[in-house]
Amino acid sequence: MLISWPMKTLYSLRMRASRGATHISGAERIVAADELVCATAELMSRAALRHGAPADEVHCIAERIDPATVQYHSFPDVTNYAAPEWRAGRQLALELLTKAGVDAKVAQAGLDLLANGPGANGANMRGAVLMDATSGQRLEPDQQRGVRVSRMDLAPQVRNQIHAELEAAGLGHHRTAEALTLSGKVLAAPGIVAELCWSDEADYITGYVADPQRGYQRITPLKALGDQRGGRVFFVAPNVEVADLIHFLERQPLLFDAIGAIQRQQG
Ligand code: AMP
Repeated sequence: MLISWPMKTLYSLRMRASRGATHISGAERIVAADELVCATAELMSRAALRHGAPADEVHCIAERIDPATVQYHSFPDVTNYAAPEWRAGRQLALELLTKAGVDAKVAQAGLDLLANGPGANGANMRGAVLMDATSGQRLEPDQQRGVRVSRMDLAPQVRNQIHAELEAAGLGHHRTAEALTLSGKVLAAPGIVAELCWSDEADYITGYVADPQRGYQRITPLKALGDQRGGRVFFVAPNVEVADLIHFLERQPLLFDAIGAIQRQQG
C-alpha cells in the first residue's frame, strides 16, 4: 500500500548490547522525533534486563532519515505449520524452500549450515548468509558477520493499530512482530527467492521459511529445545547485483503500514 503520510521528522534508532566481548542482543526502531526518548529508554532497558543478566555495555544510536526516501509496504501473509518434531519441521522447510524455487541441494545445504552453526568454527553469525539459490555459492562479503537487515519498523502512524491486529491474530509477542518486520523487508528486496530462519536462543524453537509468493510460513518446531545454534539464510536469484541487494537490506528505510492475511495452524 502506498500512502503519503504527513512528512514528520524520523529517526532510525538502533541498539546493540554486549557482555564481555560477546554480542547478546540488538533491536531497532524507526520513530518520529517526539518518540525518540521513550523508544531509546525501552530498548535500553530491554537490553539491560535481558535473561535477568545485565549487559555490560548498551549502545544506542539515532540517525535522522529523510521521510521522502521511506518505502511503505504491507506485512507478508502468515501461515502456521505444526510439525510432530524438529526433524519433520526441517523436512517441511526443505519442501517449502524447494517450492519457492530454491534448488533442493542448495536448500539442504542452507539447512545444514544453520544446523551446524553458520559462522567460523560452528559459531552463530550476527547477520544473515546470502546464498545463490541455484549454485549454493555464498555471496556475503564477510562470512563472520553476514548481512544485517536494518532500518525497518511499523509506521508510527499505525503502530498501535497494527500491534492490536497482530495481538488479535495471536501474533502479539514482540519477537514475532520483529521477525515479521525483518522478514517483510527481506521479501521486499530485489532478487530474493526465499528466506530460512531459526533463532539461536535455546528456548525458542519456532522458525520460518518465507518467500515473496507464499509469505511468512512459521514452522514449530524447527529445532530441538536447548539447541543454541541458529541463523538466517537469504536465498537469492542468480546474477543478482549483490552490492545493490546489500544496500537495500542494510540502508533502505522501510515502514509497514498494514498487515497481510493471517492463516491459523495447519496440520
Ligand atoms: P534471532 O531470531 O534474533 O534469534 O536471530 C537469529 C539469527 O538471525 C541470528 O543469530 C543472526 O544470525 C540472524 N539475525 C538476527 N538479526 C538479524 C538482522 N537484523 N539481519 C540479518 N540477520 C539477523
